Amino acid sequence: MKVDYLIVGSGLTGATIARILTDAGRKVLVVERRSHLGGNVHDHYHPSGIRIHTYGPHYFRTSSEKIWKFVNRFASFYNYEAVLKSYVDGCYENWPIAGSYIRRIIGENWQPEFKGIPTNFEEASLAIMPNLIYKKFVKEYTEKQWGVPAYTLSSCLAKRFNVHENDDPRLKMNKYQGIPYNGYAHLMNNILKDIPTLLNFNYLRHRDLIKVEKMLVFTGSIDEFFNYDMGRLAYRGQQREDVYISNVDYAFPAGQINNPSTVNGDHIRILEWKHMMPKEYADNIQGTVLTKEFPFSPTNQDNYEYPFPDEANSNLYLSYRKRADQTNKLLICGRLGEYKYYDMDQAIARAMVLARRIIETT
Ligand SMILES: Cc1cc2nc3c(=O)[nH]c(=O)nc-3n(C[C@H](O)[C@H](O)[C@H](O)COP(=O)(O)OP(=O)(O)OC[C@H]3O[C@@H](n4cnc5c(N)ncnc54)[C@H](O)[C@@H]3O)c2cc1C
Repeated sequence: MKVDYLIVGSGLTGATIARILTDAGRKVLVVERRSHLGGNVHDHYHPSGIRIHTYGPHYFRTSSEKIWKFVNRFASFYNYEAVLKSYVDGCYENWPIAGSYIRRIIGENWQPEFKGIPTNFEEASLAIMPNLIYKKFVKEYTEKQWGVPAYTLSSCLAKRFNVHENDDPRLKMNKYQGIPYNGYAHLMNNILKDIPTLLNFNYLRHRDLIKVEKMLVFTGSIDEFFNYDMGRLAYRGQQREDVYISNVDYAFPAGQINNPSTVNGDHIRILEWKHMMPKEYADNIQGTVLTKEFPFSPTNQDNYEYPFPDEANSNLYLSYRKRADQTNKLLICGRLGEYKYYDMDQAIARAMVLARRIIETT
């Protein structure tokens, strides 16, 4: 089979590129190795009617008019501002940590523990909070998440959270925040509507079946593309255990409860999906579904979630990147292809730039 543009992977990166190329009149084929479109933002329904984000909770946030307009072309969104809690000393405390909590526990004139230029995650965290707060909220949580001591991790990781001066419980303040009214699967199917797609097709097992005339856009793992011949990039993922409780409407005060202490179990967080549904739907459903997440180091690419934030993996990635960039008619991109955590709006923004570049150069 011959195609002009082959897009491997139907997640937000592949789907956005496929959509923009198709809109520009280019001939595209999307192949996906899973049995559904949409990559990691996919969702599905529990028999009770509760919608579960299959690969972990996804809160859509952006301050870009362009990206908000793009996603709203394919789905309408209801307003959802994620509120997260951390279970600390038997109470559900705000996450990010509330200023009032620190004042209550440490005192009015609290100071961050670390002064100077942080060289690792632990120092970067202590540069914004006192040691006791770090221990209660961050240290064990991080060590569960990554399976290594916090001081061995990159300082960049600490940029993903902050301490709130006030008590605003919202996770992030973007101009637009929401969840697609009919779910992410519906959004992704609409982005890819009328574009030829093949499901259950692992491109790497059938490279010879499709001849690509103009560009191969690969959004899977970059090391897998090159048969791991320089070594494997490390990832962390989550094993998820769902439980349906029929006689309770809501079990928790928020959709996401972090579990930063090992004393309360090895899970890192509990998700209560009903909180993430439009209230008028959720309140009419009997019972609740809870999902416990347990971090682990996956070897199956389907479970790859977070690139491992250390120097050895960054350097290995750069070696693969160099090769990818030197290969003609090949673009490896997306969260797996660039070995980079992208929020959904960042993945779309990046895909928009790449799609424009493909249109201009091929
Ligand atoms: C646990 C978790 C929670 C998150 N929560 C949020 C959130 O709240 N808000 C937010 O903005 N972002 C969130 N994100 C980020 C979001 O998931 C990403 O931005 C998005 O998934 C990136 O899309 P992508 O297309 O790059 O990758 P993916 O969605 O992973 O798509 C890649 C696709 O390629 C397919 N593929 C790979 N190899 C092959 C092959 N050989 N042949 C065929 N197909 C292949 C895969 O099956 C997959 O479908 C979260 C991420 C994780 C891990």
